[in-house]
Amino acid sequence: MSNVNPQALSAEQIQPVSLDLDLKNQTLHITWADGAVSRWPVAVLRQHCPCAACRTEKEQQSRTLLPVLKQAPAEKLEAVGGHLVGNYALQIEWSDGHSSGIYDYRYLRMLHAE
Ligand SMILES: [Zn+2]
Repeated sequence: MSNVNPQALSAEQIQPVSLDLDLKNQTLHITWADGAVSRWPVAVLRQHCPCAACRTEKEQQSRTLLPVLKQAPAEKLEAVGGHLVGNYALQIEWSDGHSSGIYDYRYLRMLHAE
């Protein structure tokens, strides 16, 4: 299931019928229109932050010989808020002030398949 073609996703598969960002438990819970249920610890979402800065950072880390030394302590990061962007995406605000990651539903559904 790891190589899902994003173009192959149906409208139902990328349409949440419920979306709950649980700040207390630091999880994101989505029920999709096709009946699938996704649940991620927010740390996973931060690792997959789609903003340009995070993607560049990840690329640089993968080119580094000692990536372990450069990794931030991800477990200290928490989601502190979130809001819907239009009818297509979720934006998450983090305890370190980062909020430029916009997780569109298609992208989240791709994470579900991984
Ligand atoms: Zn980011």
